[in-house]
Amino acid sequence: MQSGTIFLVGAGPGSPDLLTLRAARLISRARLIVHDGLVDPQILALARPDARLVSVAKSRARHTMKQDDINALLVAEARKGEDVVRLKGGDPFVFGRGGEEMEAALAAGVRVEVVPGISAANGAAAAAQIPLTHRDHASIVSFVAGQCKGLSEQDWSGLAGVGRTLVIYMGVSTAPQIAEKLMADGLAPDMPVAVIENAARPEMRVLRGPLAALPQLVEREKVKSPALIVIGEVTAELVMQGAQLEVGVESTC
Ligand code: SAH
Repeated sequence: MQSGTIFLVGAGPGSPDLLTLRAARLISRARLIVHDGLVDPQILALARPDARLVSVAKSRARHTMKQDDINALLVAEARKGEDVVRLKGGDPFVFGRGGEEMEAALAAGVRVEVVPGISAANGAAAAAQIPLTHRDHASIVSFVAGQCKGLSEQDWSGLAGVGRTLVIYMGVSTAPQIAEKLMADGLAPDMPVAVIENAARPEMRVLRGPLAALPQLVEREKVKSPALIVIGEVTAELVMQGAQLEVGVESTC
C-alpha cells in the first residue's frame, strides 16, 4: 500500500483568517489532524466533523508526548495510507520542530510537504504595529529562542542594538537573564523593548519599557506565554509617532 503524505502545516498566530488558503484547505479536508497546544480552537473547528484530532500539546512544563513519539506517530499513520495534517502554531520551520519531523518522515521514506504559516514574530509585529525593519531604524532582524538550554552560552552579541531588531520567542520565564545577558553584551539599559502577549488574538497586550526594566515589567504585568519580547528602536512608540508626523499626520496624543 502506498503511504500517505505528512503535511507540516503552519497555523499562524491564532485567528483563522491568518491561515494560508492552502492550510485552510488541508485542515478542512483532513481525516487526521495531529496538532500542538498553540493551535487555536477556532482553527480546529474548521476540521470535518468526522476528522480525528490528536493533540500532542507541548508546553514548557508539561510534555505530553515526546518528540520521538510524535515522529513515530506521524510516520505510522502515513504508512497506513493516511494523509496526516501535522498542525503547528505559527510557522513549522520557526522554533516549530518541523525540521525534525521532516527528517523523520524522509528517513522513513514517507512523502512530506511543508505549508508555511505566519510566524508569531510577523503576526505580533503587524498586530502591534511594530515594523520589524524600517529604513530609518532597523535593517537587521533576528529571531532567537529565549529558553533553550544553556541560554548563557548562546552568543547573541551583535544581534540587538542600534539599527537592529531582536525578536525573542519563549523568553517570558527567562526575562531577567535575557535583560542581564543583553546589557552584559553592551546594550544600553534604556533600549526600548516591547512584550507582546497573545499577539494577533482578541486578548492581545502590548507592554513597553526600557530594557533594564524588562524583568519588572514581565513580573508586574504577570505576562503569560505565549508572548514575544521585541528589542530595538522600532518598538518605541515615539519613534513611530515621529515618523507619522514627518509625513504630516497629526498625532492624537
Ligand atoms: N512555530 C511558532 C513558534 C513556536 S515556539 C511560530 O512560528 O510562531 C512558541 C513561542 O512562540 C511562544 O513561547 C511565544 O514566544 C511565541 N508565540 C507563539 N504564538 C504567539 C502569539 N500568538 N503571541 C505571542 N507569542 C507567540
